[in-house]
Amino acid sequence: MTYEVVIGIEVHAQLRTRSKMFCGSGTMFGLTANSQTCPICLGLPGTLPVINQAAVEMAVRTGLALNCTIGSTNRFARKNYFYPDLPKGYQISQYEEPICEHGWIEIATDEGKKKVGIRRAHLEEDAGKNIHETGTDGSRVDFNRAGTPLLEIVTEPDMRSVDEVVAYLKSLRETLIYQEVCDGDMEKGNFRCEPNVSLRPVGQKAYGTKVELKNINSFKFVKDAIEYEIKRQTKVLNEGGKIQQETRLWNIDRGETAVMRSKEEAHDYRYFPDPDLVPLRITKEWVDQVRSTLAELPAERRNRLEKEYGLSEYSAGVLASDKKFLDYFEECIAEAEKLGYSKIEVGRELANCITVDFRGLSRRGDTITPPNPHLFHRDPYQYAIGPLAISIPAKNLVELVDKKMKGEISGPTYKAVLEEMFNTRQTAAEIIEAKGLRQVSDEGEIQRIIDEVLGKNPTQVAQFKEGKQQVLGFLVGQVMKASGGKANPGKVNELLKKKLAS
Ligand SMILES: [Zn+2]
Repeated sequence: MTYEVVIGIEVHAQLRTRSKMFCGSGTMFGLTANSQTCPICLGLPGTLPVINQAAVEMAVRTGLALNCTIGSTNRFARKNYFYPDLPKGYQISQYEEPICEHGWIEIATDEGKKKVGIRRAHLEEDAGKNIHETGTDGSRVDFNRAGTPLLEIVTEPDMRSVDEVVAYLKSLRETLIYQEVCDGDMEKGNFRCEPNVSLRPVGQKAYGTKVELKNINSFKFVKDAIEYEIKRQTKVLNEGGKIQQETRLWNIDRGETAVMRSKEEAHDYRYFPDPDLVPLRITKEWVDQVRSTLAELPAERRNRLEKEYGLSEYSAGVLASDKKFLDYFEECIAEAEKLGYSKIEVGRELANCITVDFRGLSRRGDTITPPNPHLFHRDPYQYAIGPLAISIPAKNLVELVDKKMKGEISGPTYKAVLEEMFNTRQTAAEIIEAKGLRQVSDEGEIQRIIDEVLGKNPTQVAQFKEGKQQVLGFLVGQVMKASGGKANPGKVNELLKKKLAS
């Protein structure tokens, strides 16, 4: 029997507000346990929640970017369950009247573009974190995360393969980062996904029984977990078994999913409207105001980059996927225009520099300690993985690229200077001056080195004159070496050929 895979996804995106969903406590990541708490997010008796306006606006902005209808009235509900990391014994969420509904997002698949339906997106608060450490006296709870605003984004069961899932998650994450509503940092847990997977015989309309996979925080694990689940369900069905509706956890070490809990229904949570919060009205004026702040959408940006700067699809894709990269790129372009370059002239060169050459530098950031830590991004985690090289001022980078484009420095010198700029924050001119890296194009100077090299290698010169052309490469190499890599290679070739022919 061949089966069709049916996948829907819930994503919990942490909104980038400075304070929590219903109180003024901060939302910084990685602080001392329980240092960002107050009586409200600790659920102490007698406290009352107050809705965070910024969180609501971020939810509306996301809804608009995802082509959703924004609910004019929406209501918060209590989702009741007991767990030590949930101080109130319920989570404030939205149930019957979510803030966003009936949207869609476009994804790129092998068969072309496809729309994935967004069923709803609703606001809720996050729980705290249980900490189980071996070697200490039991478990503890950190409530710093308790009450942090989340937007839960739920799709229709529209995806039919693992590739579509990955395309959806990338597209959604990109959109959230672009609208500046979520950092999308999966390892910090501020973009977590829960796919649900079911199979049905090809041609059958009714959906099969679905299995939910809980809290997965990397694209790779999502892929692995779904692939495993498809195989597991296929095997169960082929052997005549039945799929149980359940929630399963992905075990990274064992590479398999395991049952976490069996079927749960909405009524298990006894949802009811939170009596502490009045229904939230969102006026058309408010929605229009938020709409006016919407950032350019990623797909639009990619197209614009290809057209305006003549970038390749690859470069445009990389730049468009990270707002920090793109803002920096456009800042560099503005600097280059001051030097008289047109966008098309300098676009590709700068894009290559940022999308290719910077990658190496950022990776190196994993191991080196920046000599000037305060000049770099303050977040140590981002330092390790992020496009850190964008800490080089745009003006300085353009100065370097300008020298490369004018042929004042060679390719290898350009790379060496870039790395030095990254490490020391000096300007290209300072580094080139200090290290004597200026490319030698002066014919007299190159001629002098050529004479010296030819004098030292009479055998090779004789071989060349007997017709052994390959020797030329060797001689060019010797001249470059003698110049300390600074001679202009084009000039060296030209002058050397002339000299050997004479
Ligand atoms: Zn609080």
